[in-house]
Amino acid sequence: MRRVSVRDALAAMAEFPLRMAARENIAVEASDGRVFAAGVHAAESVPPFTRSCVDGFAVIGADVARASEASPVTLRIVGDVVMGKLAPDGLVRGSCMRIPTGGALPAKADGVVMVEDTIDQGDVVEILDGSDLDDHVTREGADVRAGDLLCEAGTIASPAAIGMLAAAGVDRVEVYRAPRVGVLITGDELVPLGAKLAPGQIHDSNRVALSAAITALGCEAHSYPRVADDRTAFDAAFAVALAENDAVVISGGSSVGERDYTPVVISAAGSPGVIVHGVRAKPGRPAVLAVIGDKPIIGLPGNPVSALVVFETLGRPTLLRLLGISADPLPWRASLSADIVVSTHLEHRIPVKITRDGNGLVATPLFGTSAHMHILGLADGLVVVPEGVGAFAVGTEVDVVPYTRRNR
Ligand code: AMP
Ligand code: MG
Repeated sequence: MRRVSVRDALAAMAEFPLRMAARENIAVEASDGRVFAAGVHAAESVPPFTRSCVDGFAVIGADVARASEASPVTLRIVGDVVMGKLAPDGLVRGSCMRIPTGGALPAKADGVVMVEDTIDQGDVVEILDGSDLDDHVTREGADVRAGDLLCEAGTIASPAAIGMLAAAGVDRVEVYRAPRVGVLITGDELVPLGAKLAPGQIHDSNRVALSAAITALGCEAHSYPRVADDRTAFDAAFAVALAENDAVVISGGSSVGERDYTPVVISAAGSPGVIVHGVRAKPGRPAVLAVIGDKPIIGLPGNPVSALVVFETLGRPTLLRLLGISADPLPWRASLSADIVVSTHLEHRIPVKITRDGNGLVATPLFGTSAHMHILGLADGLVVVPEGVGAFAVGTEVDVVPYTRRNR
């Protein structure tokens, strides 16, 4: 199969519709961090009635139009607006009502004079400034109108967003359930954390890192017992993972070696099968993207750095499709603290550490071979050097794609 660019790999996958995550209807207060599965519309206008935004006196505009400090206008106080209640009746020319911030504007009132522009004498009040009456009220629906689209499908609820929905009378929302993602780890040399290493063995670090990255995306990671480098065992394990999940992420065995069974196991399991095998990117050449039925399969190289970088590059956007999210993470714009020099014949991803100096963000490249996990472990994100470019000089402003991580 021909190697394609990362962009073309994702475009090839986009041709295949995927089954969206299941939905559920939940209380707004439980929805922080969840992804809306449908647009959310305001149930009520905000504010629901025209209200004062200062403490002062509700007045009829014509009464106070010419009021000034030099020639104040005296009005009778005929009532008090009480918070949480309809304003009393009885406002007529020559009168006014006391009104607190948030109080409902009485019928016939045109606006509010703030208390700082008045002299309250008990039964009457002197108005020193009758301008800007309308600036001191918030009209019904000035913030949000009933029916307005407030949150789009595929966006993530934030504390402020759920506050906005609550204010607009929305108490329940449709959100996606976390897609179930099966994690299949292959490799005879791998032993679980906590077990003592025999010669030739290594700890299975991809299970931990990939499960965490999958969870941080808002999916549910289900990891399975290690799969031996054996075709029959791999077929059986893959069949179970495919049946039990909305997507499957496989670590290892994606290359073209004798025991790299990932592509054949996927192809044998159903159609359309393998869509991409190999991308023109480093790290990550031996990546596999596949679809079986309407479920995506992401085959990652076993090398821990490659596995995570390819997960970020190809796995993340593929899995987020199940939640209706198509936006890439917003990059940081940062100035390179050192030259980056790479070969021109692949798209390269260089891990960088982000710091800040007086001029803004600084990206420090962390160089090493793709086998050096400690480099990735210390990095905040990736700088992409496009195919054919080969180098970025020190001081170049670059985009840094942040790693998937849980929000703090
Ligand atoms: P593979 O893609 O299976 O050929 O593996 C490439 C390299 O990554 C080998 O050195 C493996 O030992 C290592 N490796 C594979 N899977 C894992 C894993 N789950 N955790 C840590 N290292 C791994
Ligand atoms: Mg292997």
